Amino acid sequence: MSESYETSGAMDATLSPELAAELTAEFTRRHESEPLGIWSAPGRVNLIGEHTDYNSGFVLPFAIDRRAYVVLGWRDDGLARVTSTFSDEVVEVSLAELTPEVLEGWSAYPLGVAWALLARGTLADGREPAVPPVGTSAAGLEPRGFALHIHSDVPIGAGLSSSAAIECATAVALNEYWVLGNSQKALARIGQIAENQVVGAPTGIMDQSASMLGRRDSAVFLDCRSMETSSVALGLAAHDDEILVIDTKVSHDHATGGYAARRASCELAARVMKVDSLRELTPADLPRMREALDDETFRRARHIITENDRVEETVRLLGAEGPQAIGGLLDASHVSMRDDFEISVPQLDLAVEVAQRLGAIGARMTGGGFGGSALALVSRARRPLLEAGILEAFALHQFEKPDLFVVQPSDGATMKGEPR
Ligand code: ADP
Ligand code: MG
Repeated sequence: MSESYETSGAMDATLSPELAAELTAEFTRRHESEPLGIWSAPGRVNLIGEHTDYNSGFVLPFAIDRRAYVVLGWRDDGLARVTSTFSDEVVEVSLAELTPEVLEGWSAYPLGVAWALLARGTLADGREPAVPPVGTSAAGLEPRGFALHIHSDVPIGAGLSSSAAIECATAVALNEYWVLGNSQKALARIGQIAENQVVGAPTGIMDQSASMLGRRDSAVFLDCRSMETSSVALGLAAHDDEILVIDTKVSHDHATGGYAARRASCELAARVMKVDSLRELTPADLPRMREALDDETFRRARHIITENDRVEETVRLLGAEGPQAIGGLLDASHVSMRDDFEISVPQLDLAVEVAQRLGAIGARMTGGGFGGSALALVSRARRPLLEAGILEAFALHQFEKPDLFVVQPSDGATMKGEPR
């Protein structure tokens, strides 16, 4: 082991001594060695801006107080050996033989990140790494092996991006382990490459950006065309407001579900309108688009164009007036996803309707859709009323009991040596 190697686990404010001890013990049990350190990255909730990311548009997600932890240890045999508390399976592959084709199941997320880092990670933001990967040959052909154990409290398939949490935690851990020197934005892209090219889910850059760049009490405003980001204060605590997540337990599947079909509709609309992406169009173009597109494609595109507008307006209102002012935009976003983009399900609609009826400031489904979660922006005092009402409504409709929890906008992935 390199003498100068420092672990970054101690820097992680979300890691209590108890959890660190538990994760270290679990790593040692499963990998029969001592770990080097623990890195983490959060899940995310998207406040507004749905399906706009792959249309080069605007999104406004925030990192949440639920995280994936990656415990990483040294191996000198060129093998990657990964485990997770979520499974008894131990997956072992030779890094020299790591290709997308050999990866499947849950291990495709962490090992896909390893592949993306090795294949093109160091150049993802156009920079050469400051220091060549430690333990590689001059040609960079023999990456140093690693043992990796995952522990996450981001619920799976709830629309909170448990996948990005794992990708980003793995990315920061391996970036440090291999001394690759990638920026936070480059690592977000690495996570997306793993998800697109290895897992096979055609998702945008939003989830990984939120997980990498999130900040306490703030959202990440991301322009997916320029890739510029800024932190937007949410002011929830100051206004005594909270964000309640309603996990409907209806599971989605990005890789095979309607996500790819929606993406194809957006690409078709852009092609017919002769633009690179729907980002180039504004509400003023809608009458022209109605003429040029079939009804379904038109409605898909209208969602994207109006949603981009709503994201910008949300950022403006948060700055000018605070969270109380954005309720109407959240509500309108839900209607657009329900009627135009058609990615909602009855459980999500019910959660949103009941939240609105019981006095939420605003409510909408969040995430890719076809299941997953809704969010309600609500005053702290009113939240118990909402929770009781939603549980009652779900019982009445004989829907599975949803999970309700408050999320706190939190810091993103732990990363050493890079200013946030
Ligand atoms: P989400 O909306 O939660 O991101 P995805 O379908 O994109 O849903 O990703 C969920 C997948 O991520 C799981 O099926 C699993 O393969 C992987 N995953 C999530 N959490 C863990 C974990 N703790 N350990 C291993 N794999 C996990
Ligand atoms: Mg996901």
